Amino acid sequence: MIIFVSVRGLSKMFTLYTQGGAEIDVFDDVSLDVRSGECVCLHGPSGTGKSTLLRSLYANYKPDAGKILVQHDGGMVDLLALEPWEVIEIRRRTIGYVSQFLRVIPRVSTLDIVAEPAIVNGIPAETARASARTLLSRLRIPERLWSLAPSTFSGGEQQRVNIARGFMVNYPVLLLDEPTASLDAANRQTVVELIKEAKVRGAAIVGIFHDEVVREAIADRLFDVGKQPVAKSKIPAAAEAAA
Ligand code: ADP
Ligand code: MG
Repeated sequence: MIIFVSVRGLSKMFTLYTQGGAEIDVFDDVSLDVRSGECVCLHGPSGTGKSTLLRSLYANYKPDAGKILVQHDGGMVDLLALEPWEVIEIRRRTIGYVSQFLRVIPRVSTLDIVAEPAIVNGIPAETARASARTLLSRLRIPERLWSLAPSTFSGGEQQRVNIARGFMVNYPVLLLDEPTASLDAANRQTVVELIKEAKVRGAAIVGIFHDEVVREAIADRLFDVGKQPVAKSKIPAAAEAAA
């Protein structure tokens, strides 16, 4: 199988300038390969850096060291070495990302928000809207809501609009940050099916899922962000012995 995402020696630290320059060492020397058709679930307790790693894979955060190689246009490109316009291009065609919360755009209808990723990829507007309707139906968003902006929707409804948007384009790489967190069982099952379909068409998926049932249904393997061997070796021997 072809490797779509290859992470090498990735480290990320946050410096809190407003709090005396305190440093948070989130992860250190993370390496991970994700193949076509595979779903890797980021694992570990809250605060271990799962979302930070996922945002780094979307070039939202810039890690301090390492490489993130992504298969794009038949070659491997390093996300950390790209110009901003190249990042936009990769996000348009290669990497899809379902964030934890929908970024609501005032006055844009739900149908147009969902259809947009396909339209910017050159799909005719009517074809894109037809796919958007199919996805919104599958995710049980009532038709009377499709013409409304989702700003007044419930958390679960906004999350489903966000998911529909993320599955509009057959991205080779798909990043999912707790897409099922606020969903009922039936919609959770729909998301499981969407993920399985994406795997069958060869997408490389990296996801965070609190729900063990969802993880068991879709994960090919778990990746423990919080347990990197190098981070552990940083603990002084004396402290380790005392622990
Ligand atoms: P997880 O998704 O595993 O719960 P996160 O990646 O959200 O964890 O956070 C990991 C750590 O990084 C936490 O200690 C969090 O406070 C810190 N962190 C995350 N984002 C930022 C940020 N933008 N600025 C400063 N610290 C951050
Ligand atoms: Mg998180």
